[in-house]
Amino acid sequence: MDTRSVNSLEAFFMGFSNNRAFKADPRMLARAKGMYYYAPDGREILDGCAGLWCVNAGHGREKIIEAISRQAAQLDFAPTFNLGHPLIFELASRLRGVLPGGIDHVFFCNSGSEAVDSALKIALAYQRAIGQGTRTRLIGRERGYHGVGFGGISVGGMVANRRTFGPLLNGVDHLRHTHGANAPFTRGQGEHGADLADDLERLVALHGADTIAAVIVEPVAGSTGVLVPPKGYLERLHEIATRHGILLIFDEVITGFGRLGAPTAAEYFGVTPDLMTMAKGITNAAVPMGAVGVDARIYEAFMANSPPGIELFHGYTYSGHPLAAAAALATLEIYAEEGIFERAASLSAYWEDAVHSLSDAPHVADVRNIGIVAGVELAPRDGAPSARAQAVFNRCFDEGLLVRYTGETIALSPPLILEKTHIDDMVGKLRDVISKVD
Ligand code: PLP
Repeated sequence: MDTRSVNSLEAFFMGFSNNRAFKADPRMLARAKGMYYYAPDGREILDGCAGLWCVNAGHGREKIIEAISRQAAQLDFAPTFNLGHPLIFELASRLRGVLPGGIDHVFFCNSGSEAVDSALKIALAYQRAIGQGTRTRLIGRERGYHGVGFGGISVGGMVANRRTFGPLLNGVDHLRHTHGANAPFTRGQGEHGADLADDLERLVALHGADTIAAVIVEPVAGSTGVLVPPKGYLERLHEIATRHGILLIFDEVITGFGRLGAPTAAEYFGVTPDLMTMAKGITNAAVPMGAVGVDARIYEAFMANSPPGIELFHGYTYSGHPLAAAAALATLEIYAEEGIFERAASLSAYWEDAVHSLSDAPHVADVRNIGIVAGVELAPRDGAPSARAQAVFNRCFDEGLLVRYTGETIALSPPLILEKTHIDDMVGKLRDVISKVD
């Protein structure tokens, strides 16, 4: 094929993709509605991962489509640097109804990666604003995924995302991950491993608390293969961080907006961080948007302690974009009107039983679950890491089920409008495919 033709697939340099394999055998999505994607030939594909953990209210929601269209006609763009437009202030106020008490202020950006880098920068600037300018160190966790900005990959812990990009940020250290603290096939949170949070105490002893600005974790690690925190782990991390004046950042890009059957993981686990990142489900993914929830005392310190003028030297052209604001407001309405978070909670026991029924399928080495998310870890093929998971992903797609794979783990995180029949269908198809793939 002429690679310069507009029909060529070559021009698009796809990220997080095997470009050569995809372009030789492309799997395309043409439209979506409700729980389903449709291939260009009209074939139905059950969405087992809400796009990319983001379409929590299902695809093609009229209310969101109308809100975006109306807003595009009324105000296509407005800067939010020393200017504003009403919708974004309304959205920030309405988000207070979703976020835990105390997280009273919201900074806007356009993605999870930007939310993470923004949260890290707000943490550093806050420490300086309160006279703790020696606190410049950031702590992440092994196997963490915090997007792809230099801040995010520095505190992140997925080796493939880090090793080709140079020395990254200085002064970053990592807690150990929690994978393996509990036996395989543990349902929900395991009993063992809260003490892994003591790693923060160890890093304080090593570096000195007065050098550490913040610690960031995903309350449930998603992209690394669904790692559920052991009971008591997040509570302990919160206690240690608070005791040492270290800000705790929850990366809620996946867990926010109902994935666990609660508005946020913070609420689900009863642990409120100082800063919280959000993206994905905030707009049901219809328009890109990210956000950082900021505790009142942090915001107030910026207001009280900054010299006259700009308090935060950080922001994006598209921070608080009107189309994203419109989409987010419509999305929040759907979540509330349809009780989407409660619905996820009410289905989580059925979901747990269904995904754990895969435990005796061939090659399955572990099943992990919480809320409406699950990781089905497969034994790797000898000498070919991820090959079996990739084969399952491909075959599922060809047989009408979209899943995600990361390393050896198949991740499931469907739209939260699902019915029990969708769960049965998803788990049945996955079992069938796993049994057929060698
Ligand atoms: N943080 C977490 C926990 C994520 O899961 C992701 C994406 O999956 C990100 C950050 C990055 O978000 P984005 O891809 O929107 O930049």
